[in-house]
Amino acid sequence: MTKQKHRPERTCVSCRRSADQDQLVRYVATPTGQVVVDYQHKLPGRGTYTCFDHSCITRAVQRRAFARSLKNAQVDVNIDTLIEGLRDQIRLRILNLIGMARKAGLVASGSQLVLSSLKKPGELSFVVLSCDITQGVGDKVRQQAARACIPLIECFDKATLGHALGLSERSVLALKESPLAQTLNHELQRYRDVMGEF
Ligand SMILES: [Zn+2]
Repeated sequence: MTKQKHRPERTCVSCRRSADQDQLVRYVATPTGQVVVDYQHKLPGRGTYTCFDHSCITRAVQRRAFARSLKNAQVDVNIDTLIEGLRDQIRLRILNLIGMARKAGLVASGSQLVLSSLKKPGELSFVVLSCDITQGVGDKVRQQAARACIPLIECFDKATLGHALGLSERSVLALKESPLAQTLNHELQRYRDVMGEF
């Protein structure tokens, strides 16, 4: 009960679902009237919220819900710009988290290391495969992860994953069980929700 008091709830302007504000996307209008994503919940001014869900965001735009809730009939909302802005911010957060996890020694990267780690029960939280992984290697990792009942997420390309790790390219990495891995997994789910799919 007391915990609830310290965590302000907000309502999705689209489906009216109430949730802890950290679970929702915040938007504000710029001085020129453009609606932008405030991913860190830090921008000043009146904010409005939606779920991290492609359909909620789309519906809010279609129903002119941003203009109503921001009390600004002139606001300019472009659905593609909005989704793209949100996608870029989550992506940045994911890549930063991967970098933090690497520094904390919580990342296994490269197919050999990931395949051998998958054989150790309780070692890994989840596996990330790049979308441009070589098919043979990808299949091997997918099979091994399925056998170990470890979730596997396919996203980004090997250059992007490599960059997050301070390497040139990486097509396979895995997060070791840790609170940071949970946070990262959460952001990856959000990314998936916003994109509709990977
Ligand atoms: Zn919603």
